[in-house]
Amino acid sequence: MSESEDRVPTGLPTHIRHFIDGNFVDSLSGATFDVLDPVTNEIYATAAAGRAEDIDLAVTAATRAFTDGPWPRLRPRERARVLVRVADAVEAQDSRLAELETFDTGLPIRQALGQAQRAAENFRFFADLIVAQTDDAYKVPGSQLNYVNRKPVGVAGLITPWNTPFMLESWKLAPALASGCTVVLKPAEFTPLSASLWADIFREAGLPDGVFNLVNGLGEEAGDALVRHPDVPLISFTGESSTGQLIFANAAPNLKGLSMELGGKSPAIVFADADLEAAIDSTLFGVFSLNGERCTAGSRILVERSIYDDFCARYAARASNIVVGAPHDPATEVGALVHPEHFAKVMAYIEIGRNEGRLLAGGGRPENLPDGNYVSPTVFADVAPNARIFQEEIFGPVVTVTPFDTDEEALELANGVRYGLAAYLWTTDLVRAHTFAQNIDAGMVWLNSHNVRDLRTPFGGVKASGLGHEGGYRSIDFYTNQQAVHITLGPVHTPRFGIH
Ligand code: NAD
Repeated sequence: MSESEDRVPTGLPTHIRHFIDGNFVDSLSGATFDVLDPVTNEIYATAAAGRAEDIDLAVTAATRAFTDGPWPRLRPRERARVLVRVADAVEAQDSRLAELETFDTGLPIRQALGQAQRAAENFRFFADLIVAQTDDAYKVPGSQLNYVNRKPVGVAGLITPWNTPFMLESWKLAPALASGCTVVLKPAEFTPLSASLWADIFREAGLPDGVFNLVNGLGEEAGDALVRHPDVPLISFTGESSTGQLIFANAAPNLKGLSMELGGKSPAIVFADADLEAAIDSTLFGVFSLNGERCTAGSRILVERSIYDDFCARYAARASNIVVGAPHDPATEVGALVHPEHFAKVMAYIEIGRNEGRLLAGGGRPENLPDGNYVSPTVFADVAPNARIFQEEIFGPVVTVTPFDTDEEALELANGVRYGLAAYLWTTDLVRAHTFAQNIDAGMVWLNSHNVRDLRTPFGGVKASGLGHEGGYRSIDFYTNQQAVHITLGPVHTPRFGIH
């Protein structure tokens, strides 16, 4: 068997369908779109291309399951049992999931395996959380009891991107289902493969028909129809900031609840007093893991001038050593970018970068990989803050390095972009670290650490990086309405009107 046959997962589907009301179905129109293998850019499957009428069918099924079905009315413990079975099933097939995800996205297999395991963790976490959830009750001595009724909002519309698709879907599916919502998922059109696996996992875990619905399709067709549907009261969206703006406008006529996890251009700031070796390890992993297709990528490195030259030399040497190769090979550190369109976008930014910075490593396709969407880890130094490669999200294995002289300048550079998702700080000065954390425009700050977070903590960005926060109880809050109930315990003291 040749190398190329060897990497194709057994049982790879050649056609991917929607899943509506417990059945795999094609689009009513019969329309399909092509799904590409990022290593060859050949079509390996077609997927049903959903339009407004398919979304409508899915929303109708989800509405029926919400209005008449058992799911929203189950006790949290009963819903949690289903969620735990989902987590067990994901864990049991993590290698298979990783294999398929790697094939569809081009992510390195070891990283895809970590993402599959994180998806299982998300389900286990929200199963525990929904059982532990307590709502406030306030007793006003002698007069009133006030308590909170928490009710699932209804049909949740979930729209997800193509980077780590299965894991990011779990990040929305788990809290939505834990809360008692029914869902319609619209996964990204570049990577529809793993989303269809949820259908069997949920069915075997005992999720009633109609609770989970999946409609594949293009953003401007299926995604847009979901956003505009009057029977979908909330949309949880992860994707580009520009798409988020469109969704915001299109959801406005129905005043929908919105949660938006958007783009980033996160700074990693390295001070002269930092543990340099650890900072280099972390800033390399922070931008080149997941092929650089990571929302929280530390894609702008700011380095104190006294260590700048040393940092640049050591960083570039390590970046040039990163193993770029076949996604299914366990030795691979950077795989193939997801799609030729995205590859072209990243390559165009590299060309722009040649005029905006000093190329220290990479700069295009590796010589030994003439086909597929491979890009060498690329490092541009001396990049000015007004450069496009400093300001715009590239979402690939490309990083800028910029020197600074003072703390004030570092903060100004860090905050001088439209995004505010994450920030990474490397310093041994604790006062400086906490002062920066306080002043930096970022939803998440990592001090002398890299992108690891406990699932209880808030996840989200500020400025163009998002709206609202997910994570822990914040996710449950989003998928539930909280109704305050007030009852009089003692004599009624209503001011009396109409008595003269
Ligand atoms: P995208 O915005 O192009 O697409 C995301 C999803 O939105 C897809 O399912 C797409 O089909 C759909 N969509 C597109 N147009 C739509 C419309 N008009 N109405 C409704 N839906 C529509 O994003 P992408 O290229 O798939 O993903 C990459 C982006 O996602 C990057 O900007 C990245 O930073 C961001 N991202 C953010 C986070 C986070 O948590 N902040 C996490 C992962 C990715």
